[in-house]
Amino acid sequence: MTGKALAATLVLCGLGVAACGGTAAGADLARERGLVPHAAGTAAAPAADGAAETLTGPAAGAAGDPTATSAAGRGGEGHEPLSGKIVVIDPGHNGQNYRHPAEINKKVNVLTQWKACDTTGTATDNGYSEAAFTWDVSQRLAKILKSRGATVKLTRDSNSGVGPCITQRAAIGNRAKADAAISIHADGANAADHGFHVIMPERIGGPVDPVVKASSKLGLDVRNAFRRGTGLSYSTYIGKNALDYRNDLGGLNLSTVPKIFIESGNMRNPTEAAKFQQPAFRQKIALSLANGLQQYLQR
Ligand SMILES: [Zn+2]
Repeated sequence: MTGKALAATLVLCGLGVAACGGTAAGADLARERGLVPHAAGTAAAPAADGAAETLTGPAAGAAGDPTATSAAGRGGEGHEPLSGKIVVIDPGHNGQNYRHPAEINKKVNVLTQWKACDTTGTATDNGYSEAAFTWDVSQRLAKILKSRGATVKLTRDSNSGVGPCITQRAAIGNRAKADAAISIHADGANAADHGFHVIMPERIGGPVDPVVKASSKLGLDVRNAFRRGTGLSYSTYIGKNALDYRNDLGGLNLSTVPKIFIESGNMRNPTEAAKFQQPAFRQKIALSLANGLQQYLQR
């Protein structure tokens, strides 16, 4: 019971950030965006996570391979369009964040404000967590990018841990000198809201400034490929034509490499929630993201 109550409390915290880019003013953002709380205890239930994490199909081989590796010589495709390119994938949140409030609520400096180290993320009404979703999509995406010759690094190595802090997630991309970095999320808005959006950085008089322009190009390419590949609509509730620009996200503010967030859709919308729970649709998402990244990287 205690665990369940704790989960419910934290889920509410996470929900504010639901727009999972995250914000310190979670409750305010939730109100602004009309977000509604989860049913108690449904989000991030370990059982649901476990089930959701079962990889099927092409992604299975990528599981548990978080280290930077090159697919050079693998795949047998004869040509590798992303050879020499480095991509950092940041699977939003982590499967055990909800159990470690002290750690994830610790405040970190994201230059424009102080905010929580990490958040729990959102979930579908039947308990499929955003953390499980982002982990699965990231595994699939990594495998596709590696097959095209890219060197890929993830910011976390499982969905059964905590964090890392958003500051670290940015630092991992910077240290890797990534040609492109993408943070993968799904939103938790009102049930009637739907569609995806891309979040790009704004100039803040900080380290991200030199890559703001490149990040915008990356965002456009990923927006176009995501729309084409998934068939999901542009967000009905955030941004314009699925494009949003923010200066409150640590993962963007602290990035010195071109970086964007993808909010893949609304996990609280029944239609999109059902799609996100289909492995084949997550593969479609991963393929779309890979195509958008490739479009940008081959410019
Ligand atoms: Zn998120």
